[in-house]
Amino acid sequence: MSGNESRLQAIHAINNSVAAEVGMPESLQSIWACDVFNLASMEEKLSKSAFKAMKKTVQTGAPLDAATADVVAMAMKDWAIEKGVKFFSHIFYPMTNATAEKHDGFIVTNFDGNAINEFSGKLLIKGEPDGSSFPNGSLRMTNAARGYTAWDPSSPAYIMHTANGATLMIPSVFMSWTGEALDKKIPLLRSNAAMNKAAQKVLTLMGEKNIATLNSSCGAEQEYFLVDENFANARPDLILAGRTLFGAPSAKGQQFDDHYFGAIPARVQVFMQDFEDQLYRLGIPAKTHHNEVAPGQFEIAPYYEAANVAADHQQLLMTVMKMTAKKHGFVALLHEKPFAGLNGSGKHVNWSVGNATQGNLLDPGNTPEENLNFLLFCGAVIRGVHLYGPLLRAVIASAANDHRLGANEAPPAILSVYLGDQLEKVFLDIKEGNLKPTVSGGDMDLGLSQILSFQRDPGDRNRTSPFAFTGNRFEFRAVGSSQSVSGPLVAMNTMLADSLEWIAAKLESSISGGMDQTAAVIHVLKALMDEHGNVIFGGDGYSSEWHEKAVNERGLKNIPTTADALPAFLDPSVVELFSNTGVLTPVELKSRYEVYSEQYILSIEVEAKLVVDMATTSIYPAAVSYLSVITESLNASASLGLGLDASVATKLADNINGMMASVEKLSAAIAVHDFDSEKSHMEYSAKTIRPLMDETRAFADTLETLVADKFWPLPKYSEMLFIK
Ligand code: ADP
Ligand code: MG
Repeated sequence: MSGNESRLQAIHAINNSVAAEVGMPESLQSIWACDVFNLASMEEKLSKSAFKAMKKTVQTGAPLDAATADVVAMAMKDWAIEKGVKFFSHIFYPMTNATAEKHDGFIVTNFDGNAINEFSGKLLIKGEPDGSSFPNGSLRMTNAARGYTAWDPSSPAYIMHTANGATLMIPSVFMSWTGEALDKKIPLLRSNAAMNKAAQKVLTLMGEKNIATLNSSCGAEQEYFLVDENFANARPDLILAGRTLFGAPSAKGQQFDDHYFGAIPARVQVFMQDFEDQLYRLGIPAKTHHNEVAPGQFEIAPYYEAANVAADHQQLLMTVMKMTAKKHGFVALLHEKPFAGLNGSGKHVNWSVGNATQGNLLDPGNTPEENLNFLLFCGAVIRGVHLYGPLLRAVIASAANDHRLGANEAPPAILSVYLGDQLEKVFLDIKEGNLKPTVSGGDMDLGLSQILSFQRDPGDRNRTSPFAFTGNRFEFRAVGSSQSVSGPLVAMNTMLADSLEWIAAKLESSISGGMDQTAAVIHVLKALMDEHGNVIFGGDGYSSEWHEKAVNERGLKNIPTTADALPAFLDPSVVELFSNTGVLTPVELKSRYEVYSEQYILSIEVEAKLVVDMATTSIYPAAVSYLSVITESLNASASLGLGLDASVATKLADNINGMMASVEKLSAAIAVHDFDSEKSHMEYSAKTIRPLMDETRAFADTLETLVADKFWPLPKYSEMLFIK
């Protein structure tokens, strides 16, 4: 049997695969949100008064009374049963990046042995999973395990269809019996409330009279790779770690820049159509899709929504993506760096705050220099990123994202803010105490009569910035593709709340000291720029000059690994930030530190074990078999006096020995488990285990370039990236 059998079988299977049937796309109107119990379906099913109460809860977070909850539960049950649902589940968002669900039937039996469907407000409101079996950072033990889930009425319930039937899914929060948040939703809701409270203060000081509840919005662009499942199944690293731990570069990679926005391969188009139809049914407004930079890489971006709903939808989108990919014979890779040497995948979190009365407060309009509310909110963000840059780095820290952030790839691990020319000038003018009118982008005129002229944007795009202003929102570009968007949203909302409180206090004292409103705004913004203006940067974020300057001249932090980043959660200023704003208690915050540290350590440990295993049981045997074949030929040629050059054999032997020596070192390193803190264990993972994995890989990848193709067991980069 030749070593490449699994590869050949995979290619054969792909050549003979039959495309999944999806049929013509249905009209948007006929499928849009048909599986969602949203306000529109509630209006149909609920009495006027119950509907009014629900609407108020959804839109302003007002509490819902028990009687109304009962009415809503009944209506929700009837709606779901009409659609063939037998089970319901609270879906919640533990401190992993995944979701969790426990399914219960509507069924109850009565004394006559008959089964009836029952679902009460009580069941809707509260569920009771075990709190100790999810990551909880010492908040729960197996002997003190009680946890609760509770319905979040502000995120709509929906029906999830699988081959095994349909389930009513009820978005929920998850807490311990002692009331601590064990999930990612509670902090997000709290951060929104904190932001609203502080924003109300500022807007009131600005003379606004009618101020609706403020909410944050999020539109997340999701990058991902698709690999044929026949290849993925032949690669234990892709299956267990979500990325390739070995693999020599393909001769053709992304050097031609021909994949970005290129024509989408037919099979992928069919997948996308199916995927998006399912998203529409679930009320997820998928809007944009295209090829990304690397071969086999794609992006999907839904239209933005209220942050809490967007966060739930983002999780659901990842789940539906994986399920649909499988149906089409693909594996969807959400890992931040599945293939070395190619672009990694991120999730750009577009974020703004606003309400129904003042609109989007991050929209500058045409004359930002006159839009005082905008200047205050934008200034608040600048201050937040400057003060809490290390926190923003910590909330996106993971073993996988370190391959993007710490490496020489986009975006850099230094948190700076890009404003664009026009706005940067406004803020610099404020700093100089000399605010002048700005110039807009002007008309774009190509001198071609058939092309209509249009207004040019006032600022360019800067793809090297981790945190960029993009017209009416900020785009946090450094978030990892597999991460929940909640952590970043919590950090952004909370730092904004803190900055707005700071601004409100300053404004208040200036105004009560007799300053007029405009002067008070300029006064506070000048102070803000003096202290925090250093974080604004419009140049090339990848350049080595910036790395040097950011740290030495600007005093910004370059935080390359998760081991360096996570301790920000323990920083007194961060502990204070979260407790002052009521978003996380010190105990809750510490539990996050513990959970994320452990996840980092465990991910690297799993990968390291896989490296040892694959090098020993798959790469070593292939290389040795091939070596024995060429050694035989060398001996035969020598006996005939032909004298074949033995250098390939020597190189092979050197790399085989080198690889196995590294494997020895790595195995020994994995066995060490005695650390005095999470931090020292994380540093060990970053500085000892990771480099040994890289060392092993370097030998293995060289072997891939030496061993005859027919002996090589693992699907190669060229195959996984280009055969579809
Ligand atoms: P690009 O790739 O140019 O950054 P996309 O159109 O792919 O832009 O994605 C932009 C994302 O930003 C979309 O999800 C969009 O809905 C979202 N977005 C647009 N305006 C806002 C806003 N005011 N607040 C939050 N998100 C927004
Ligand atoms: Mg973008």
